[in-house]
Amino acid sequence: KKVADRYLKREVLGEGTYGVVYKAIDTKTGQTVAIKKIRLGKQKEGVNFTALREIKLLKELKDPNIIELIDAFPHKGNLHLVFEFMETDLETVIRNTNIFLSPADIKSYMQMTLKGLAFCHKKWVLHRDMKPNNLLIGPNGQLKLADFGLARIFGSPDRKFTHQVFARWYRAPELLFGAKQYGSGVDIWAAGCIFAELLNRRPFLQGTSDMDQLGKIFAALGTATPSQWPDLAYLPDYVEYQYVAAPPFRSLFPTASDDALDLLLKMLTYDPKARITAQQALEHRYFSSAPLPTVPDKLPRPA
Ligand code: ADP
Repeated sequence: KKVADRYLKREVLGEGTYGVVYKAIDTKTGQTVAIKKIRLGKQKEGVNFTALREIKLLKELKDPNIIELIDAFPHKGNLHLVFEFMETDLETVIRNTNIFLSPADIKSYMQMTLKGLAFCHKKWVLHRDMKPNNLLIGPNGQLKLADFGLARIFGSPDRKFTHQVFARWYRAPELLFGAKQYGSGVDIWAAGCIFAELLNRRPFLQGTSDMDQLGKIFAALGTATPSQWPDLAYLPDYVEYQYVAAPPFRSLFPTASDDALDLLLKMLTYDPKARITAQQALEHRYFSSAPLPTVPDKLPRPA
């Protein structure tokens, strides 16, 4: 049975943040696609309209490192978003102990991640929910960012969905302190945490609550102080944490090169105004020094 006279439904791929995702064939192009069915509550009649308008803008976000939003339409009270189908994601790659990731492979994944971010940030679109399972990997090894802009349109349903707790590990300190105004720095922080996870093959800062997340951040990087981050004490949920000094950064990443560590530290800068931008990160010497990033189709893939 066709949906919207165009898509042939196949199996369910999983349950995501906003609803069920299923595989389908686009009969217009023959392409395999992933359709995200987004439940729209009854009381949210207006959301449909606003969301569709915003989604129109997301359709224009076309870049090799962004998942293409092919189509969007309401159907039986649900909003359907049609994306290009991707084989796997970075979380699966990181967790697969049979896959060896060389320094050049890690560099390639980071370069693709930052290219996708730089493109969207240039257009003033934030991701806001960066985590390894949102970095999808295609058949030719291309990494593409998924769910761009959806967090803003549909809200961050973090607290309502238990499977979403992992997103906390990638949350920037300004968000944990309740900042209402924030910028592209939140995506850079998350990308820094993903960089750290690629290096150590384990999530970097695994907080069990928002307070504990800040505790984990401060234990790794040293307590944030107003001298490093002047706006800190004015954040809505600011509380003083007991001062701890940072251990040598090097000791946290025994296998990383000096260039990798330098870039990572710049991505994990406390003050979002001082944090490196995606474009600056791409120009960092880490990406021009040896070893050069692995070409995507040479990246290791799950058997
Ligand atoms: P979450 O909100 O938890 O990040 P998603 O809604 O993005 O989850 O995805 C739910 C499931 O659908 C996951 O198993 C994911 O791998 C799969 N999925 C999402 N988007 C795609 C896609 N473009 N191609 C293939 N699988 C996808």
